Amino acid sequence: MDFRELEEKLVAFRDARGWAEYHKPKNLAISAAVELGELLEHFQWESDWEILKAIKDPAKKEAIADEIADVIIYLTLLAHELGIDLGEAVERKLRKNGEKYPVEKIGE
Ligand SMILES: [Mg+2]
Repeated sequence: MDFRELEEKLVAFRDARGWAEYHKPKNLAISAAVELGELLEHFQWESDWEILKAIKDPAKKEAIADEIADVIIYLTLLAHELGIDLGEAVERKLRKNGEKYPVEKIGE
C-alpha cells in the first residue's frame, strides 16, 4: 500500500504554514485521539439504526467524513514524525492478523 503521496501532501501543507514545530509525536497522538472523540460524538447515544438513517443526510455524512479525515491526517503525520512507513506498517499488521486468524479456522 502506498500512503506516501498523502504523507507528502500533508507535510507540504503543514510546512507551508510553519506548523512543524508543534507537530511533536505526543501532540499528534493526542490530536488524533481528540479527533476520534469528535468522530464518536456523532454516534454517542444513537442506535445503529439511527446512525444508518442519519448518514443519508449529505451534511451529516460530510461532517462524519471530516472527522474520519482529521484522524487519518493526524495519524499520517504521527507516522511521518516517527519515521514509520505507513504502507509497510499496515501490510505487516494485516499479515500478522492473517496468521493469527487464518481463514481456514474461521467458523470452527
Ligand atoms: Mg475535527
